[in-house]
Amino acid sequence: MNLTYTVIKNEIAKTSTIFTRGENIFALGNYTLTEKDDDKDQYLYTFDGSYGDYEVSIHVKDKLIVESCTCPYPHKGCKHVVAACMDIAERKKREQKLISEEGKSSKYLTPEEIKAEAGCPKEKGKKRRVYPYPR
Ligand SMILES: [Zn+2]
Repeated sequence: MNLTYTVIKNEIAKTSTIFTRGENIFALGNYTLTEKDDDKDQYLYTFDGSYGDYEVSIHVKDKLIVESCTCPYPHKGCKHVVAACMDIAERKKREQKLISEEGKSSKYLTPEEIKAEAGCPKEKGKKRRVYPYPR
């Protein structure tokens, strides 16, 4: 599942009020990413709650997001989960930006460089044969 603000608002947050509260927590940043598993797309957060710390675990799967939180909120999609998902969304955005920037630069260089490099050894060989002692 692609973690976007729309998905978080419409499919993860229990209500729009919860979404706004989650947004505020995300903006304040009073939480810590304690564990991250890139291969499984699994994240563990600790939130500074009013009555202690809450543990949030988010697992981003292909078609759904498996989330859990230790706070007393009786439904799925509490404000902590919203904030955690936003954090993950931001991280992914940054990563994708990095990847696309890398792709852009290599795409920019690759086609001509490959040709140039493929032709290079032959030219060097030729030059060496013609001028065996450059000095
Ligand atoms: Zn919670």
